[in-house]
Amino acid sequence: AKQSNNAKVQFFAPEMEAKEIRLLKLESDIHRAIKQQQFSVHYQPFVDLKNNRIIGAEALVRWYHPKNGIIYPDQFIEHVEKLGVIVELGDFVLLSACKQFAAWRRAGFDLEKLSVNVSSLQLQHPKFLERFRHILQFTGLPAHCIEIEITESVLVGDAKRTIRLFRELQSMGVRIAIDDFGTGYSSLNYLKQYPINVLKIDKSFIAEIIDASPNSGLVSAIIAMAQSLRLDIVAEGVENDWHVHYLQQKQVNIVQGYFYSKPLPPQDFEQLLETPNLP
Ligand code: C2E
Ligand code: CA
Ligand code: CA
Ligand code: CA
Repeated sequence: AKQSNNAKVQFFAPEMEAKEIRLLKLESDIHRAIKQQQFSVHYQPFVDLKNNRIIGAEALVRWYHPKNGIIYPDQFIEHVEKLGVIVELGDFVLLSACKQFAAWRRAGFDLEKLSVNVSSLQLQHPKFLERFRHILQFTGLPAHCIEIEITESVLVGDAKRTIRLFRELQSMGVRIAIDDFGTGYSSLNYLKQYPINVLKIDKSFIAEIIDASPNSGLVSAIIAMAQSLRLDIVAEGVENDWHVHYLQQKQVNIVQGYFYSKPLPPQDFEQLLETPNLP
């Protein structure tokens, strides 16, 4: 028995160890990254199709790892949440983005919409509103410029508290957007229950638009529903002419995607703002 136990251990241990070591390494790297400010914010433009103009941007966090180079949020956000440092990271993103946007506006760029992803743990933090107000005060960015992107997972918590928080934010002028709409498990119920301003159509639905036929697919149903609920719509993952033409036909005017630009570091975004002609 002893022998076979050993065999088992020998067979499985290296793999498990490697995985655990990787995770421990990632965890200590995240703590160090927060301390050493290895995170930075990139900006992906929102384009208004009515005049082909950049009206704002979504802030997307990046990790400049000293050894591994640039790491994308899908690789670390989940761990940042588990480690309980999402509030720190979230504050950093919000502060950097508001500071940058306020500076661009002071420099004369006509930017009216900064969208920031806020995770549900961050939003549920008792001091969220207080910290948020501080950041606005400190940076001087008007609240009406800010859109907070949340996912459907926020809406499964304490509904009363969340509704109160949304109303408080909205009374300041902040807008609430549902990100990745249609990919979560929640029902359509919450669209009536929660005060929401904007619905972001997930890129997976946009990818289904393969020609300009106006009533095919889920995307036209989502657009019709959002319009009947009088929600604003943002389409993400716009990658080609088809997508643009389709959305234009449907009067969905605010779009983002690789067709216009990937998320860019601040200097590159600023250069894009100075470029006279978008595609
Ligand atoms: P998301 O909020 O749904 O952001 C959109 C993602 O799609 C971004 O990935 C963006 O780079 C990518 N994307 C943009 N245009 C296109 C396109 O035309 N085609 C395709 N295929 N993809 C496109 P990214 O930057 O890697 O971010 C991944 C996710 O990480 C975000 O998804 C968001 O959920 C999360 N995230 C990013 N920054 C933050 C943050 O500061 N805080 C929190 N809590 N989450 C963040
Ligand atoms: Ca988002
Ligand atoms: Ca999204
Ligand atoms: Ca996403």
